[in-house]
Amino acid sequence: MDRFFITVGGTGVVATIRGKESGPVVLFRADMDALPYSTQDGGVVAIHACGHDSHCAMLLAAVPQFKEIVKRGTLKVVFQPGEENLTGALAMIEAGVGDDVDIAIAGHIRATQDLAAGKLCAQINHVACTTHIVTIEGQPVHASRPHQGINPVDVAANMIVALNGMRIDPNESWSIKATRIQSEPGATNTIAAWTKVMLDLRAETNSGLAEMVAKLESIAKHTAEAYGTTAKVELIEECPASEYDVEMVALVKETIAEEFGVENVVDACGGGGEDFHFFKTKKPSTKTAYFGIGVGATPGLHDRNMTLEEKYLPNGTKMWEALAKKLLG
Ligand SMILES: [Zn+2]
Ligand SMILES: [Zn+2]
Repeated sequence: MDRFFITVGGTGVVATIRGKESGPVVLFRADMDALPYSTQDGGVVAIHACGHDSHCAMLLAAVPQFKEIVKRGTLKVVFQPGEENLTGALAMIEAGVGDDVDIAIAGHIRATQDLAAGKLCAQINHVACTTHIVTIEGQPVHASRPHQGINPVDVAANMIVALNGMRIDPNESWSIKATRIQSEPGATNTIAAWTKVMLDLRAETNSGLAEMVAKLESIAKHTAEAYGTTAKVELIEECPASEYDVEMVALVKETIAEEFGVENVVDACGGGGEDFHFFKTKKPSTKTAYFGIGVGATPGLHDRNMTLEEKYLPNGTKMWEALAKKLLG
């Protein structure tokens, strides 16, 4: 059996390095996609404003050393596209890349306001989020005879008020909000045939988000019923919250302290959403961790002018090598 080979998994690339002795299957993941921005002439340009190019550079630079470091088990080095649109990890998981994985680790650069340059954080906390669309059926009629029809705009308005009155444990951070409303195009003196409400839901935990989704479904159904109509709730996009394994986070923290000194360890820092966590939710026995690398990125991630200090990138490479040594050396 080859000790080193490269395969395509989903839409991404996987470099596999096998040790001579048996051991765990460990996955290291770098995302690789850029973000679209509009240009003055109306075009679209892709810019690495989230630093995923630096993630590839840091992990790729460690690969030649992995060949020496990995003595036991298997290391899968994953370069994943489509993180920003939350499709890339799922495509790789559906292609079976996560099936045999015992431990999965990812890393992300942080902007200076989240993590000072030269410091590393042992855990990035990501929230769970979804996008839902609720389609409310109306009964079109002349606007002069509203009592003969069903106005889906009325239903939408009341549903949004009811959603904003939702109760979730106040100890948890969460939010639900309508971000777009659209009705059947047509004359302004006609009751529309349908209204769609786009919703953005966020919660600190996956269980908190599941509770919100259940309440959304109930509120949409019962508000529509009160008007004698129906509402269809569709999930458009979802991203799970981080659920880390205590011993993996401890191992990451210990590695940062050993490689960079305790003064450069930060316990946790914040992040947005991350599709890496599908590796956990789709196979819960996978132990996961996710560290942050302070690289002096300004003015902030997702800003089209984001720049970082390249001199800090070897820190990421050093971290990957040290983790490989601990887990598979
Ligand atoms: Zn991003
Ligand atoms: Zn990112």
